[in-house]
Amino acid sequence: MRKDEEFSEWYNGLVEGAELSDKRYPIKGMNVWRPYGWSIMKLIDAAMREEFDSTGHGEVNFPVLIPETEFQKEAEHVKGFEGDVFWVTRGGFNELDVKLLLRPTSETAMYPMFKLWIRSHADLPLKVYQIVPVFRYETKMTRTFMRVREIHFFEAHTAHASFEDAEQQIREDLQINERLMRLLALPYIVSKRPDWDKFPGAHYSLGSDTLLPAGRSLQLATFHQYRDNFAKVYEVTYEAEGGEHKFVHQTTDGMSERILGALLAIHGDEKGLVLPPAAAPIQAVIVPVLEKGRQEQMLLEAQRLFLELRERMRVKLDDRDIRPGEKYYYWEARGVPLRVELGPREIEKSMATVVRRDTGDKRELPRDALGDRLRSVLELMQIAMWDRAEKMIRQNTFTITSLNEAKDGFNRMGWCGSEACGKTIADQTGMSVLGTPFYPEEFKGVCIVCGKPTKQVVYVAKAY
Ligand code: ZN
Repeated sequence: MRKDEEFSEWYNGLVEGAELSDKRYPIKGMNVWRPYGWSIMKLIDAAMREEFDSTGHGEVNFPVLIPETEFQKEAEHVKGFEGDVFWVTRGGFNELDVKLLLRPTSETAMYPMFKLWIRSHADLPLKVYQIVPVFRYETKMTRTFMRVREIHFFEAHTAHASFEDAEQQIREDLQINERLMRLLALPYIVSKRPDWDKFPGAHYSLGSDTLLPAGRSLQLATFHQYRDNFAKVYEVTYEAEGGEHKFVHQTTDGMSERILGALLAIHGDEKGLVLPPAAAPIQAVIVPVLEKGRQEQMLLEAQRLFLELRERMRVKLDDRDIRPGEKYYYWEARGVPLRVELGPREIEKSMATVVRRDTGDKRELPRDALGDRLRSVLELMQIAMWDRAEKMIRQNTFTITSLNEAKDGFNRMGWCGSEACGKTIADQTGMSVLGTPFYPEEFKGVCIVCGKPTKQVVYVAKAY
């Protein structure tokens, strides 16, 4: 099956074939993470923790319930989220005096506490993050990892003394994002969302989007500059050096399990998952090809190799009593980057047969110092996977001069910046206006709607 033709069916088959998640749980959009899926997500989470811990963020864990009274404070925020919220209205037999909601995101849970934690300029910047489930009452068709009601969510929240300090934080977030996306082999573009599509309550929002095989864009991360919008509502102030009280400036950086969905969709093939080594719970699997009468000796060789490789990578020895062909099929579906075959022929020649999951490339490598060689192959794969995905995006980015030319992929066009023209673009193409590129792009032309000369381009795509 070709993935661009029957994307949906192919994607579901991929998730089921690798036993990542089970959507048969009796609540729509609340899926069960199975061990292999969760082990990939844990690796992604670990990479996030490492990045945010090493840039001065502290990990926190806030309650899942938020009182309605706190949620109601920021008007735009409420307007943006109230249609998505699950409510808790009873405790045991009693109606609650104050209704509670399951967090759809945690601004309104955290900022009343920020008010207590932040006293003086010495408490700033305050940088925290958490990796927790959030809940949104999704009414559209759900899809595993991409559109669900219980979302495995990452959110970083920061508070700063000034707008400029908060701007600096967003630049740091973008650098963190670049490092993370390299690990996951997920190229992207960063756009400043149009005003009518920014996060409810934000001063402005940036989004990073990648391109799925079917030509739709998928949002991978968002970065919001709140200025002092939330601080004013939640009275988050600090005493400046001169003694006066000022509102803090805040930012957030959000990601979710969608990153895993993007990874599967972009790199998977007809055999199943293809994982970049950095996100692979098992980076190499050793499959002994046993010969009658010599089983014991060959298993011993395989175990020796396993112990050796274990020092250098995440490796698994598959000594199950099934045919090698079945094992190949099993590990291919799970996207294990390297398969190492060890049979009588290999042992005689002091070699190992190594097969790359991403290209299918098969070669014999000397048994000596195999760990070193495999490490370099893993590094090459990591880069090659990024390059392939980036090329796919480049080939599907089109600069167009008439709205009739809009097609699957990223459409790039001149835009005067007016909301009226932006909405005309969205209406006439049936696509989403992702926004203007955050990293300026050379352009000289006219607005695709009104014809006014402009140096600004805008990216438009069918958003997932
Ligand atoms: Zn215009």
